[in-house]
Amino acid sequence: MKSRRLWTLIAALGLAGAAHAAGPVLVIHAGAGVLRKDMPPAREKAIRAALTQALLAGYAELKAGKPSVDAVAAALVVLEDDPLFNAGRGSVFTHAGTLEMDAAIMDGYTLRAGSVAAVAHVKNPILLAKAVMDDSPHVMLVGAGAEAFARSHGLAMEDDAWFRTEERWQQLQRALKEDAAGKPHADQATAKHFGTVGAVALDLDGHLAAGTSTGGMNDKMPGRVGDSPIIGAGTYANSGCAVSGTGWGEFYMRTVAAHAICMRVTQLRMPIARAAAEVINQEIPAMGGNGGAIALDDRGHIAIPFNTDGMFRGWIDGTGQPHVAIFGDEDDGTGELLPAPAPDDAATDH
Ligand code: ASP
Repeated sequence: MKSRRLWTLIAALGLAGAAHAAGPVLVIHAGAGVLRKDMPPAREKAIRAALTQALLAGYAELKAGKPSVDAVAAALVVLEDDPLFNAGRGSVFTHAGTLEMDAAIMDGYTLRAGSVAAVAHVKNPILLAKAVMDDSPHVMLVGAGAEAFARSHGLAMEDDAWFRTEERWQQLQRALKEDAAGKPHADQATAKHFGTVGAVALDLDGHLAAGTSTGGMNDKMPGRVGDSPIIGAGTYANSGCAVSGTGWGEFYMRTVAAHAICMRVTQLRMPIARAAAEVINQEIPAMGGNGGAIALDDRGHIAIPFNTDGMFRGWIDGTGQPHVAIFGDEDDGTGELLPAPAPDDAATDH
């Protein structure tokens, strides 16, 4: 029944292989694990506004004929700067009360990639990941070396206080109390991975890109790196597929989730909705993990599977009309209420 519900969701989102209006496409997420009870109206409104702003910022790049990597970075900068999300300002804290942010970006056309892990003080980790891709001989930089590279590049830096929000601090205090009492975290399935931001884009030249940025998981061990900056795990793009994941990162790393989705699409020629659902809604939950992903193919087909109650998400295509959704029962405003396919019938229209 559960998988039926998941497929119904995919279909209800208009994402079961539906082609979108010609033109560029941008899809964003700002984390899975959201619960309706945690969403007072004012917060919901602010989140919808922020998602819309991010979509419009990225779409402006695409409309101007810029490459998809630029659109991904532009959308993610908006979300990193917004303290509502667990990326850049507003990142969650480690067990030691420190901030360690991760980010990655990948250009599907050239297969170039850049990523950073466990960085502090960098205002926009996604811009640092892009600088690693564009201006270094490496793919991944971590910690102090990554910060030194950011400084040498003149990227904006901020002190710890700028990133800190009371909400995240209290989230850590609750987790520390539970740790001390030997109790499992009450918010284990939700707030522990919540608010990571990601984007995938298809530009006017038909090139794809993906990017992800996060503070990681609340109360993580200092030094822990999640899936987001690991190329192939939380972030991946090639010429036919782009994916950004959000969820319990250890499971995305062990399933190499983003790459697993894209290999199904480009090697097995599987429709992107089915490829993404197999990994996110079958493989990962079967191992005990949870979360979601945004996925986009080179024809503009979108998939947004998630196995949590909700996921902050949005998309915009050639019509220029932004759509945002939070809860599982929303239709994203697409109006494309397709009949729910049985899982085995899903391999259609690619
Ligand atoms: N996947 C991220 C991590 O494990 C967390 C998230 O997506 O919210 O670091």
